[in-house]
Amino acid sequence: MLNAPTRAEQFVDDGEHYLAQTYKRPPFLLVSGDGPYLYDSEGHPYLDWVAGIAVNALGYNDAGLTQTMQTAAAGLIHTSNLYYTAPAIELASLLIEKSFADRVFFSNSGAEANEGAVKWARKVQYEKGLTDKTEIVHFSGAFHGRTMGAVALTPKEKYQKPFMPLMPHSVLAEFNNLESARAAIGPKTAGVIVEPIQGEGGINIATDEFLRGLRALCDQHGAVLIFDEVQCGMGRTGKLWAHEHSGVTPDIMTLAKPLAGGLPIGAILLTEAVASAMHPGEHGTTFGGGPMITSVAKHVLQRISQPEFLEHVNEVGNYLQERLSEINSPLIKEVRGRGLMVALELTGDVSAMVEAGYQHGLLLVNAGTNVIRFVPPLIIDKPHVDQLVEKLTTILSASK
Ligand SMILES: *Cc1c(COP(=O)(O)O)cnc(C)c1O
Repeated sequence: MLNAPTRAEQFVDDGEHYLAQTYKRPPFLLVSGDGPYLYDSEGHPYLDWVAGIAVNALGYNDAGLTQTMQTAAAGLIHTSNLYYTAPAIELASLLIEKSFADRVFFSNSGAEANEGAVKWARKVQYEKGLTDKTEIVHFSGAFHGRTMGAVALTPKEKYQKPFMPLMPHSVLAEFNNLESARAAIGPKTAGVIVEPIQGEGGINIATDEFLRGLRALCDQHGAVLIFDEVQCGMGRTGKLWAHEHSGVTPDIMTLAKPLAGGLPIGAILLTEAVASAMHPGEHGTTFGGGPMITSVAKHVLQRISQPEFLEHVNEVGNYLQERLSEINSPLIKEVRGRGLMVALELTGDVSAMVEAGYQHGLLLVNAGTNVIRFVPPLIIDKPHVDQLVEKLTTILSASK
């Protein structure tokens, strides 16, 4: 006689029937977490190198985060942007204190933040009467989101082709190639958007020279320089902002993933010169910057921006790269990254390794075809790195 399906199996089966199948998910059900570990319904632990895609910076079941959420949940949740509430103002002021920015607009996601950034870049030109200065330059390997504007700046055939026509006046140049950028940026350029470290594209670090060159080209042509730090920002690279490594500052920076420790939020950080181009009623969002979510984000930002916290990210990140480099396998092509944003590039497709990870109690995620991307909770520690390396060594030696 066949065994009746367990409750978890039933959920997985229902999930396949009821959820839109835009993701290919493994057949287990996650039910709880603690620190850098997630647990499925059968009690199996998974050491998490994904962190909800670079989101859960403080890990799971963090006492301070839970306490902050509970306190915030007992207060106001939402009032809309028609009214002032204290937490949004406090969070904005903290972001400004810790960055180049003068003003902040809160959104609900990374894509929505980038949409706003693009609108701001165009509005800056429009305010000057430059109504045909509308082009947005973006780069090969970029990921800026899935909405119609952001996906137009995400040059990957699978993401773009079925959804044509996309936002017009999106101009593509080659990442880390200043000649290509110089050819693309000109009198018609409203803005230039770039990730200081590309995430989905495979953990590709923009060179200091490239970012400096983009800054100079934007200044020369009156274009707005936008840094998308949705994935690489907020301590991930061992500095609070990834662009700090280069010394180049943008006019706009977008944030999202880890900002509220797992709750949905996005932010657009702006210089005064850019911010002042937008007037009441010209851009908006219903949910953005609500009091509950911004209370939580303030807690996360305060924690992550502590020098000791960032030092921990540096130390464990360096250790991770060191230990990954020691793995002796002909399948490994390169280890690269900054802080806890690290790539292990293999000679072939990594999807079998991600699958094998599940059997070994590891959550892994790819970035493109050949790259395993490590973007764990920032609280992960050296013994976890040792566990990872031991398991990866086993997995790699069993693969051909
Ligand atoms: C994830 C990501 C986005 C999109 O964020 P969503 O919250 O999924 O809309 C944009 N830019 C970068 C660099 C990202 O990694």
